[in-house]
Amino acid sequence: MSDHPPFFAQVNRYFDRAAEILDYPQGLLEQIKACNAVYHLSFPLKRDDGTIEVIHGWRAHHSQHRLPVKGGFRLAEQASEDEVTALAALMTYKCALVNLPYGGAKGAIRIEKSDYSEAELERIIRRYTFELVRRNCIGPGVDVPGPDMGVGQQEIAWMHDTYLALSDGEVNAPGAVTGKPVSQGGVRGRVEATGRGVYFGTREAVAQPELMKQLDLPLGLEGKRIVIQGLGNVGYHAGKFLAEDGAVIVGVVEREGALYNPRGLDLDEIRAHRAEGGSLLELEGSERLGSSEGAAGLEWDCDILIPAAIENVIHTGNAPRIQARIIAEGANGPTTADASQILTERGVLQIPDLYLNAGGVTVSYFEWIKAHSHMRFGRMERRFRAMAGERMLSEVEGLVGKSFPSEAYNRVAVGASEEDLVNSGLEETMIEGFHEIRATALERTVDLRTAAFINSIQKVALAYQERGIFP
Ligand code: NAD
Repeated sequence: MSDHPPFFAQVNRYFDRAAEILDYPQGLLEQIKACNAVYHLSFPLKRDDGTIEVIHGWRAHHSQHRLPVKGGFRLAEQASEDEVTALAALMTYKCALVNLPYGGAKGAIRIEKSDYSEAELERIIRRYTFELVRRNCIGPGVDVPGPDMGVGQQEIAWMHDTYLALSDGEVNAPGAVTGKPVSQGGVRGRVEATGRGVYFGTREAVAQPELMKQLDLPLGLEGKRIVIQGLGNVGYHAGKFLAEDGAVIVGVVEREGALYNPRGLDLDEIRAHRAEGGSLLELEGSERLGSSEGAAGLEWDCDILIPAAIENVIHTGNAPRIQARIIAEGANGPTTADASQILTERGVLQIPDLYLNAGGVTVSYFEWIKAHSHMRFGRMERRFRAMAGERMLSEVEGLVGKSFPSEAYNRVAVGASEEDLVNSGLEETMIEGFHEIRATALERTVDLRTAAFINSIQKVALAYQERGIFP
C-alpha cells in the first residue's frame, strides 16, 4: 500500500476542496470541520483462561449541530483514534446529505474479533456500553450507536440489553441503539439496508444516459461486470441485489485472497463456503490471488468496482491501474484524496461513500423513529389500505360490468408491510440523494464527491446559522 496522510486528514482534504468553492466565514468552516470530542476508553477484560487484558475503545462526537449524534461502532484490530474521528466526521456529512436529523459520531473497539470467544466478546461489549453510559455517550437523545464492521445483531443486542438494564425504566430506551434484532425493537430491512442502498444508488447512476455516454457504457445494470472487495454485510447485500437486477459479479476480494470468474460468481455459495471455514480460493474461477497479493484484484477488468471492506484501499499506488469505469464506494473512506484526483482525471465515476452507504443510517433512523412511536410501521393502515383497494376494484367491476382476475386483486388490494415501507423510504432517500448531488455537480462543474461535500457543508452551516451561532 502506498503512503497516504491519516484518514481524518483525508476527509478534511475532501472538505477543503468543497469549502473553497463556497463562501462561508473561515470560523464557521473550522467549527464544522473540527471534531468536538473523542473519548478513549480502556478497561480490563478477564479472559476465559483467567488472564487479564486491557481493551481499548473510542467514541468520537464529531458534530453536535443536531442531537442525538449517530454512528456505528466497529470491532477491528486496526481501530485507532484517527480512524474513529474520520468516520465520525463522515457521519456528520452523510446524515446532513440525506437529511437525517443527527450529528456525527463513531465508535470502535480495538480487537481482532476472531481471537475472542463469544463469552469474552459479550463481556467486552457490555463493559464498553457501561463506559459509554458513564460518560453520557449513549441514549436516545444524546448518542445512538449502531452496527459497523465486525458488529452484527448479537453485539447490538448485548449493547441494547446493557443499556436497558442501566436505564431505569426510560420509556424510549430502545431508541438508544439501532441495528437491534426485530424481536428487540429492531426494524425489518435494517440488516441489508446499507447494501440495498448501494444497489439503489448504483442503479440510479447507471440509469443516467449522459453519464453512461461519458463513460462509454451501456445504460442499466444488465450485464454490468462487478468486482466486490469485502463480502460482509455491505458487500454481500450490495452484490446480491445488483446480481438480482442483471449485473454479474465477476470478482470477489477478501482477506484470504481474491477470485475472478468472467462467467459470474455465486455470492451465496461463496458465503456459505466461507461460513463453514472454507476459503474463497477453493471455489471455481479463472484467476485467483493469494492473501498477500489479493488487493490486486481491485485492478481486475470490470465495469463497476465496489470497495466494501476498509478504508484507503484505493491509493496513488493502484489508482492509475484500476480498470473499472465506476467506483461505487460501499466502505467508508476507501479512496484516498490523491487517488480520487487521479481517478477523476482518468474519467472514472466515483459514487462517494458519504452518499452511497447512507442506506444503513437511513434505516437506522427509521428504527429510531419506531422506538419512539412504540409501534411497527404499517400496523395502523395496512389492512385499511388493502380493503380500500378491494372496494375500489369492485366499484370499477360494477361500472364496467367485468370481473378482474384474482392477480389484479393481489397487486392492487394490498397494504404495505413494515419491510415494504422501510425499503420504499430507503429507495426514495437514495434516489433523491443521487439527484441532489448530481444537480450540484452539474451546476458547479465538480465531481460527485465534491458535490456531496458541498451539499453537506451547506446543510450543516444552515443549522448553525439558524441557531444564531454564526451570521
Ligand atoms: P463486515 O465486518 O460485515 O464485513 C467486512 C468484510 O470485509 C469482511 O468479510 C472482511 O473479511 C472483509 N475485509 C476486511 N479487511 C479486508 C481486506 N483488507 N481485504 C479484503 N477484505 C477485507 O463490515 P460491514 O459492516 O460490511 O462494513 C464494511 C464497510 O462498510 C466499512 O467501511 C463500514 O464502515 C462501511 N459501512 C457499513 C455500514 C453497515 O451498516 N454495516 C454502514 C455504512 C458503512
